[in-house]
Amino acid sequence: MTGGTDKVTGGSGAVTRVLVTGGAGFIGSHYVRTLLGGGYPAWADAEVTVLDKLAYAGNLANLEPVAGGYTFVHGDITDTALLASVVPGHDVVVNFAAETHVDRSITGADVFALTNMVGTHRLASACLDAGTRLVHVSTDEVYGSIDTGSWTEDSPLAPNSPYAAAKAGGDLMALAYARTHGLDVRITRCGNNYGPYQYPEKVIPLFVTNLLEGRPVPLYGDGLNVRDWIHVDDHCRGIQLVAERGAAGEVYHIAGTAELTNRELTERLLRALDAGPELVRRVADRKGHDRRYSLDDGKLRALGYRPATGFDEGLAATVRWYADHPHWWKPLRDSPSEG
Ligand code: NAD
Repeated sequence: MTGGTDKVTGGSGAVTRVLVTGGAGFIGSHYVRTLLGGGYPAWADAEVTVLDKLAYAGNLANLEPVAGGYTFVHGDITDTALLASVVPGHDVVVNFAAETHVDRSITGADVFALTNMVGTHRLASACLDAGTRLVHVSTDEVYGSIDTGSWTEDSPLAPNSPYAAAKAGGDLMALAYARTHGLDVRITRCGNNYGPYQYPEKVIPLFVTNLLEGRPVPLYGDGLNVRDWIHVDDHCRGIQLVAERGAAGEVYHIAGTAELTNRELTERLLRALDAGPELVRRVADRKGHDRRYSLDDGKLRALGYRPATGFDEGLAATVRWYADHPHWWKPLRDSPSEG
């Protein structure tokens, strides 16, 4: 496999040159803040480049706590010439760059196909040329929907939404680079994330910020769709473990800590914000709404992974964060992007 050097396995004192694509978004920025804050000791000396298109969910304010600690490149992962100039010199690329909101993919899938599929392909190609390891961040949604039990990494891909289909296409292209060309690609697939700095169109920050302002919250359909929630910090620790100790060409699941229906989640948020059920508005269900996702994460646990943030504790801290940071989310709510 190309790209594997002692540096990226975290040899003592080694400086790791890490390119984080999509590092100004919700999860990518958490990863960068943690990495630069010394949260991943094996890579404590990492030199970090963030490449981000600053699409509507990309926001350099997410990286303010570590401003000055990284090099920023404003650009697009579909830009082959840019990648050819930026990727060389990095030991590893951790790819968070994606279009991520399922509802937006239902009304306009073009940019999803471009970024999530073509962008991943171009990034894998640039990594191959540069001899750089690629850690590609993906989602449980590539498997479709499962009524009972959990998916393993060998389960067939059966995505339903254009978002999930585009992510599945990106995953398959990245794995093709591993199998055809021997590129060191590692893929992680995770459930629904929550935490600070999440763009307030996703259900938890949307509901929390609405309730903080005494506004109603929209609950899809019968509210019985099930999601497996994980704190963003656990997701990023799982990604880092795969980056350091995973095997080339392999896929790893990062499962959540709380399987809840949307109705149960809404009840918990109402309680946390001292709000009543009269603020819940039933709205027409999302088209093609997957009923349930569930991942078996035994493979990652065999590498030593354990989630550290319980859902109740993580949700309480997240609610407090949005309550304390209206200056972060109010501008995003007051001038929502097109899409
Ligand atoms: P996000 O929408 O908050 O951030 C995406 C980032 O990618 C933004 O900074 C955006 O500007 C950037 N970006 C978009 N298109 C780009 C392009 N063409 N070139 C360069 N940068 C581009 O998303 P997120 O929630 O942080 O998700 C990050 C990754 O994690 C995605 O790949 C997503 O599929 C995956 N994931 C997310 C969740 C979740 O619950 N949020 C769960 C599992 C997996």
